Amino acid sequence: MNLLLIVFGLGLVMLFTVLLVRTLRFSARTAPVPPTAAIAVDIDEAVRRLALALRFRTISQEDPVQFAGEVFQAFHAWLAEAFPGVHASLQKETVDGFGLLFTWPGSEAALRPVLLMAHQDVVPVSPETEPDWTHPPFAGEIAEGHVWGRGALDDKSSLMGILEAVEALLAAGFQPRRTLYLAFGQDEEIGGTQGAAKIAGLLRRRQVRLEYILDEGGFVAEGLIPGLAVPAALVGIAEKGYLTLELSVAGEGGHSSLPERQTTIGILSRALVRLEENPFPADLSFSRLFFARVASGMPFPKRLALANLWLFAPWIEKMLSRSPEMNAGIRTTIAPTQLSAGVKENVLPVRATAVVNFRVMPGEQTEGVIEGVRKIVDDYRVQIRARAVRSEPSPVSDVRAASYGMLERTIRQVATGEELLVAPYLVVGATDCRYYNDLCDNIYRFSFIRIGHEDLKRVHGTDERISVKGYAQLVRFYAQLLRNTQEL
Ligand SMILES: [Zn+2]
Repeated sequence: MNLLLIVFGLGLVMLFTVLLVRTLRFSARTAPVPPTAAIAVDIDEAVRRLALALRFRTISQEDPVQFAGEVFQAFHAWLAEAFPGVHASLQKETVDGFGLLFTWPGSEAALRPVLLMAHQDVVPVSPETEPDWTHPPFAGEIAEGHVWGRGALDDKSSLMGILEAVEALLAAGFQPRRTLYLAFGQDEEIGGTQGAAKIAGLLRRRQVRLEYILDEGGFVAEGLIPGLAVPAALVGIAEKGYLTLELSVAGEGGHSSLPERQTTIGILSRALVRLEENPFPADLSFSRLFFARVASGMPFPKRLALANLWLFAPWIEKMLSRSPEMNAGIRTTIAPTQLSAGVKENVLPVRATAVVNFRVMPGEQTEGVIEGVRKIVDDYRVQIRARAVRSEPSPVSDVRAASYGMLERTIRQVATGEELLVAPYLVVGATDCRYYNDLCDNIYRFSFIRIGHEDLKRVHGTDERISVKGYAQLVRFYAQLLRNTQEL
């Protein structure tokens, strides 16, 4: 045999060995956690209270005139009746009228406090969809094993679940070592500037440094990740930034029988096409972290490719770019959302404007994105203006932190007896906890709520609901988290 062939053959064998070893190491399963005794919660009563909470129309409207302050105040008064222990033992502050901050002083003042977050407000139900609800959105009905209503998933279940857990722990004589804060803003759905931002401001003035924060943003995904047969708890360790740009082109106008060679609409359209054809570069760092944790539940070929990104990165990037969900996790996205020009079919518009929304990848900055857009558009006739509402991407919480390990263990304890993977991921939307970036290094976005394909459209949509069993797990999750925090 030819020596060259032998060398080539040996090389191939070595390559396969490396690929295989990396794959096996990459997808090692985590050891199961021993079950723990659950804290006593009367789940029927808890479910009844959640249903009642959903009856308060704590709706966030874009138009501030429509803000119904009295509904929020009624909700606060009802919470005081529903959770007498919390209100007797924790210090309650109302921040700027409607934000709620509870403080449960820890026994060891030297330890950094922790903060659990949720929001009181819900999105409105558009009147034309109201008849489509199986149970009315603000009736708080319990039926077919579910609690139905706006806020059942986003986010009153978390708010109520946290309070149920604290109430149960108080009843059991629990005393936290670390001070515990509970912060419930009233306007998350319209930006959080009056709620979370002001509560964070208050803690900042008091020079509070937090050990960890838990807010909404992640969930237990069931059947949502291609190739993954088991549920995966997605823990948000960072969130993307937010930027909106207005692109506009001004022209002479005039009669449409005498158009110039390039019209305002034509110039603007070309700019938009260029943007779509030149996506921002991919960053696989979150995917790498994520897939390392879920690979054990994936078929072998996928596992092999994911474990060997040094070789397969271009292919993986192409594959991820194809799905909108995956693509949003690897790059700054570009979404033209509004377009306006022209008043009459035979008049050339003097101005054409497009609104483009960007979700900015951690590690980048909104200024850099604006610069990038200028370069891609590369046309002096297109004016680019940033809108005032924008936020920078969050820092990335370290998955090697003790609090991350504790959170992961808690999730797996609550899911005892079931195969469930826990994985860090990038939250592509914005949550209230972005106002706390400078108060805490370890910010996690996760609620123990199971979301399948069918549930995705219920969030902010019709027939929002949570299963009674699922809610029981959510309450147990918060209670277990606070107990495990004792060892932190
Ligand atoms: Zn929410």
